Amino acid sequence: MLDRVVIDALFPADLPEPAYWEHHYPPRELPEGAQITRFGPSPTGFVHIGGIYVATIDRDVAAHSGGVYLVRVEDTDQSREVEGALAQFARAFDYFGIPSDETDGHGNYGPYHQSARERIYLSYVRELLRHGKAYPCFATKGELADITGRQQAAKIPTGYYGPWAIWRDAEPAAVRAKLDEGAPYVVRFRAPDNANGQRVRFTDAIRGELEHEANRNDTVILKSSDQTPRLPTYHFAHAVDDHLMRVTLVIRGEEWISSVPLHLQLFDTLGFDPVTYAHIAPLMKKTAGGKRKLSKRTDPEAGVDFYIEAGYPAEAVLYYLRGLANGRLAELPLEQALATPIRLDQCGVAGPLVDLVKLEDISADHIATLPGPQILAAVRAWAAQFDPELVTILHAERDLALRALTVERDGVDNPRKDLRKWSDFRAAYGFFFPQLFAPLSGPTDERLIPLGVDATITANYAHDFAYGYQHLDDPQEWFNQIRELAAKHGFAANAKEYKKNPDTYPGSIREASQLIRVALTGSTRSPDLHAVTQALGAPEVLRRLRALAG
Ligand code: GLU
Repeated sequence: MLDRVVIDALFPADLPEPAYWEHHYPPRELPEGAQITRFGPSPTGFVHIGGIYVATIDRDVAAHSGGVYLVRVEDTDQSREVEGALAQFARAFDYFGIPSDETDGHGNYGPYHQSARERIYLSYVRELLRHGKAYPCFATKGELADITGRQQAAKIPTGYYGPWAIWRDAEPAAVRAKLDEGAPYVVRFRAPDNANGQRVRFTDAIRGELEHEANRNDTVILKSSDQTPRLPTYHFAHAVDDHLMRVTLVIRGEEWISSVPLHLQLFDTLGFDPVTYAHIAPLMKKTAGGKRKLSKRTDPEAGVDFYIEAGYPAEAVLYYLRGLANGRLAELPLEQALATPIRLDQCGVAGPLVDLVKLEDISADHIATLPGPQILAAVRAWAAQFDPELVTILHAERDLALRALTVERDGVDNPRKDLRKWSDFRAAYGFFFPQLFAPLSGPTDERLIPLGVDATITANYAHDFAYGYQHLDDPQEWFNQIRELAAKHGFAANAKEYKKNPDTYPGSIREASQLIRVALTGSTRSPDLHAVTQALGAPEVLRRLRALAG
């Protein structure tokens, strides 16, 4: 084994002992059963909706147990760091209202970025080296490739283990010689001698009893000495951090299940109490032939920004995700589902399908329950970021916007479900706003073509309508104006009559009212016309009717 003096010389002289950190991060004083959970995003890419899914579960389990949820940025892979990723994390956590309970400056267990915890990791690496539980490895890329090649040729498992681990039992003199030469090295964990061929059993909070092959590899725990800062690998950092942050429950993606045997060995070797693991099944996407993992590279809906940019209300998305985690929550109304704890033992082991159509329905149902002022506030907040022109208009036309939002919403049993997300606002409500509405160019405007009504008749009818227009409160009375004028201008009283003798009439009452609808809304489909006129106000209604007359 290497001499302690040689080992200590590899580290800063003032590096604290593990005991210092143990004292600095004492066990938390929390009620019995309180769970400390953490979400560990890596800024090597943007947050995936699956990340929000896991973070939601983390936060929920901690909160309902009286514990703590924290976000720990796992940025030890600095070469792969993506610019802007950290800001995007912050945006995403903020949008979905799932901030960390502890942050730098507000928490006793930080720093909460792994890159700022270098000294902590080094204390523990030195400790393992001192006890021969880890060792410096000088194997070059070429040597490692050669080892793999020979293992493949011999049809045995590849890896750096047992007799293949060329520096595992190296003579201290050989190690010293390399160190004196200044050769770069990594530090490897010494896998337990008896690991080869062993199986380990552990209990997963979602999956129950699991059994896996024990780890036999001498895994790298500290990256190459020719890099600064000198950072650990994920495996090692996770063990040290989860221990010192006093995490009790690690909820993470199922891709980490195969690392549990190594992680349990690390906890054991470091003398830490093991944490409980809960491995979440990934979100899936339906494909022609079945389903596959939602992929950051090919599926736009995998990224969190997709939801933020489209303006899906955060509560609707969270509600949807909770339903994917625990099917019974999808059966509850939104408010109740958001307040009901997620249970790990009810999370499925098969990945749930993300179905955007379902999400849009949920979202439309949810928005339909909101009062107009709340919708307006949310649309404005969304537009402030993604549609500046709309913000200016909504600012100038607040009253009109609120009136528009009452149409078929206030005082009705089945409120309109015309908004699935905030970006739908322009298409659904834009016509209310003079700034966004192009009045017809006259009776030959192309938007009228589908109605097939003669232009001269249209112009006369519109002229008469505008001339005698009464802005009546009563919907029936208001509509009677159309009925009377339609009759006067020769429209059939109903569609049936018109169909019997299509040449006798310019159209039926249906076409007559559609002319007004297109004049007022620009479209043959719109909310209730009378309600629209009430929101627009008489002067604007008249302006639009006159435009129809040409
Ligand atoms: N940083 C890891 C990842 O992004 C987190 C894994 C964990 O939660 O332990 O996948």
